[in-house]
Amino acid sequence: MSHPTIQSTSHSIFDNLISSMIQDIVARTTTQAHALRFRYGIDPKPYHYDKSGNLDIHGMPKQLDSSIYFHCDNCNREVSANRFAAHVERCLTRGRRT
Ligand SMILES: [Zn+2]
Repeated sequence: MSHPTIQSTSHSIFDNLISSMIQDIVARTTTQAHALRFRYGIDPKPYHYDKSGNLDIHGMPKQLDSSIYFHCDNCNREVSANRFAAHVERCLTRGRRT
């Protein structure tokens, strides 16, 4: 072994830091991947990725809020999703006044 210099010593300290960090990250990642494969089969499907940002994680386009309807438990009516907060404000105060 050659005589240690300041440079070789600093290199080995740096190597030590880097390799412990790499081992730590890789060990966590492989354990996590192993647990996922164990739970969801040999080839878990990754979330859909759309570069243009138009499709969601299932590869579906955005659904319009106005085309979704919520059931209001207070008055038993179907209310459009984008008007639900306004509806609840009126619906609940109306119930209290009577
Ligand atoms: Zn209502």
